[in-house]
Amino acid sequence: MNGASGNGASDGVGASRRESVLQRRLSLADMLDLPSFVEVVRSFSELYRVGIKVMDTAGDKLADVKVGHGDFCSYVFGFPEGRSRCTATVARVKDGPVALVQGARPARGDGSEAAGIIALPCFTGLRYLVMPVRWEGDELGRVILGPFTPEELADFPPSLTDISGVDLSRAHELVARVRRVPERTAAQVLVHFGQVLAALVASGQRAFLATQLHIEAMLETHRDLEANNARLAQANTRLKELDRLKSTFLGTVSHELRTPLASIIGYSEMLAEGLAGALNPEQLLYVRTIVEKGESLLNLISSILDLSQIEAGRLRLVMGPVDLGSVIQTAVSSVAPQAQRKGVELEVRLPPLPQPRLAADADKLRQVVVNLLANAVKFTSSGGRVSVVMSEATAQKELAAPGYRVSVEDTGMGIREDQFENIFQSFYQVDGSSTREHGGAGLGLAIVKSLVEGHGGRVSVESEFGRGSRFTVVLPLQPPLSEHGGFSALAPTPSPSGHDRF
Ligand code: ADP
Repeated sequence: MNGASGNGASDGVGASRRESVLQRRLSLADMLDLPSFVEVVRSFSELYRVGIKVMDTAGDKLADVKVGHGDFCSYVFGFPEGRSRCTATVARVKDGPVALVQGARPARGDGSEAAGIIALPCFTGLRYLVMPVRWEGDELGRVILGPFTPEELADFPPSLTDISGVDLSRAHELVARVRRVPERTAAQVLVHFGQVLAALVASGQRAFLATQLHIEAMLETHRDLEANNARLAQANTRLKELDRLKSTFLGTVSHELRTPLASIIGYSEMLAEGLAGALNPEQLLYVRTIVEKGESLLNLISSILDLSQIEAGRLRLVMGPVDLGSVIQTAVSSVAPQAQRKGVELEVRLPPLPQPRLAADADKLRQVVVNLLANAVKFTSSGGRVSVVMSEATAQKELAAPGYRVSVEDTGMGIREDQFENIFQSFYQVDGSSTREHGGAGLGLAIVKSLVEGHGGRVSVESEFGRGSRFTVVLPLQPPLSEHGGFSALAPTPSPSGHDRF
């Protein structure tokens, strides 16, 4: 069943978590660095010339060093009866209880009892000592020392001699290679080995716990990050959906506002032209103000509509061969009256020779240049200068393709560097009072950026605060096929009847 509740989900996560190393019973292998431990066992065995085996409680061998007894044991093992007696002895030593049962007796020697060492006889007269490995109250395994020849062994016991076929002189010859040692000494060696093992387990346990806890902490962090990522992805999807709804809402509202506003402006213009009778000077002033404010409102609504269409990916680029120089000239003539009113000098520098046409939407490019020029004039005070410069068609490093570079430069108030990115966001204005003072709503540059990128171009800004700004648009001669980010490109059609923003 798909559980949607928050609790259900977190239970699922909890259940999939592994238990912590702190809750788990550690095995002997967990706590030992096996390669170096095997070396320790080997050096012990070689020093005392007795075999040592270390096994964990599951019966797995962690170390097994044989010294001296191999030939003798193999010889006895070669006889069927020897084989079955040997198998029984080894089973008792390896798997039987490390306790005083099933033929075991306490080992002789100082410290043997405290260490829990038991002595187990082999049917050949040899002997094993077995010591339990205990750690923090848990039994982790056993250490088996032997087989060795007990010092007191004079002759083989009947359990060996009665095996048919055994050549006793050969057996004596081979058993002479097995270390003869008093049981007390063997037990002391084992006690000593136990102390070394305890020290290794103690440090190994610390290292193991530290490593495992580190790994657990990393896994926990990783899980948290994954959960956070999932939450962020969800939030992101939701935000995108909200953004889409916002664009649709803005688009619809703007569209509905535009129609009545066009009528208001149209009728006001008719009044101003005296079509409904002559107006006195005061009436004319009022009506002209209605036209002027109506037009700025229409510009604003048009910008919102453009942006919502861009964001919804519904704006169409009507592509065709465009003479960029004449697009710039038209844009300049539409902002010229404003510049003149403000006393801002407007300068245009185009390449002296005719340039190749670029594939673009002429109306949208004009809007780009108009927006940049309008800002430049808006943010430059009287006596300042605004210039627009167009390059020849050459390779453009930003695009790795041939194209044009258009820069709009002013001697106005400038922009602080930390605002360079923000100003291209919709509804962003460096100074919150800009709308009151200069008009606009923080949409112009967002539209510029979207339209330029829709043509496969780039826009950038440089500025010295207080001295002026330069916006540069780089456009490819031919937009790459995959670009038009979110736009649909159409074959050239007669220019749609867009209104002039200025
Ligand atoms: P607005 O409609 O407010 O002009 P824009 O998106 O065109 O919106 O510009 C965003 C903000 O960037 C402006 O409000 C202004 O703070 C800053 N800006 C844009 N162009 C210039 C410029 N040429 N000089 C100084 N500041 C500018």
